Amino acid sequence: MKIVEIHIHAHDLPVQNGPYRMSMTEVWTLPTTLVKLVSDTGHVGWGETCPVGATYAEMHVGGARAALAAMGEGLIGCEVAPLPLHRRMDSLLNGHNYAKAAIDIAAHDLMGRALGVPVATLLGGALTDRIPSYYSTIVDSPDETARLAAEKADEGYPRLQIKVGGRPVEIDIEAVRKVWERIRGRGIRMAVDGNRSLTTRDALTLSRECPDIPFVMEQPCNTVEDLQKIRPMLRHAIYMDENSVNLNTVLSAVGTGLVDGFGMKVTRIGGLQPMRAFRDICAARNLPHTCDDSWGGDIIAAACAHVGATVTPRLMEGAWLAQPYIEGHYDDRNGIRIVGGHIALPEGPGLGIVPDEGLFGAPVASYG
Ligand SMILES: [Mg+2]
Repeated sequence: MKIVEIHIHAHDLPVQNGPYRMSMTEVWTLPTTLVKLVSDTGHVGWGETCPVGATYAEMHVGGARAALAAMGEGLIGCEVAPLPLHRRMDSLLNGHNYAKAAIDIAAHDLMGRALGVPVATLLGGALTDRIPSYYSTIVDSPDETARLAAEKADEGYPRLQIKVGGRPVEIDIEAVRKVWERIRGRGIRMAVDGNRSLTTRDALTLSRECPDIPFVMEQPCNTVEDLQKIRPMLRHAIYMDENSVNLNTVLSAVGTGLVDGFGMKVTRIGGLQPMRAFRDICAARNLPHTCDDSWGGDIIAAACAHVGATVTPRLMEGAWLAQPYIEGHYDDRNGIRIVGGHIALPEGPGLGIVPDEGLFGAPVASYG
């Protein structure tokens, strides 16, 4: 089964009740990029990649589209299967995992549709049909953060992520304490995410001032070296998110015992094929992790749900989706929704999403 056509679509996802605010960026609308693959058997598959603004990670919407353009013609005639496809992509372009991920996801969708099986089956088999999500607060006042956290706990989220950073650490500590007062004793797990923004000094202060609160610290500081520096002095488990840019950095972090888990993004690591390897590395070392992405619509959400369903449930830290912040769906009937803090595994072959192509307009580029 070979690729005979590739179409690239540009689409804007508006942020509902915006902006979405993290320590170093805020966004009102996100341009996403969709990839449609067509095979010589007449099957179709969809992929997507959507960086959350220009400063969250070393990813940019323009970079994704340029990278896809650089690979497009060279992928015509390539086998749809993930291994030959990644070999071909790597022979055409170094790096740019987040662009390759859109092709990888589309190929998994296409293979699943052609074989009549869900993508989770291609990834080894679903272990659940109800994938936990987690709610992430934006950087806001301690009282508002605590109010929202309590509301989301009531909705059924098994895990909450509290965003911190970009302000005096005393306010972050107050926010974390106020959240804990509202959710303690309810069995809800908690992560405190600095999104790279804390100094090592403030990360240590945050940990030392809250020794009684069992949160994990997610990517508090900017660099691997910062994490290495604070690791022996922290009172909390530490997860790596933004620094885990590929399987090599994951292996180093796991092998040296630098982290206790990961926040992992499907597009950052290059798609579902490397995500599957990442999942198995974490399982071998008993490390929990998320299966999510920085932003994106129903295609990204479905990809996260399918791979999330294949993670050993006790190691699954959840799939964060942009869905609560986005108006509308690509597929009104099968669009991915979070209900009671959980996501139902999509039914049907492939990703289980049949996007309304009319939403995306004419392709911005086509190959084949
Ligand atoms: Mg994170």
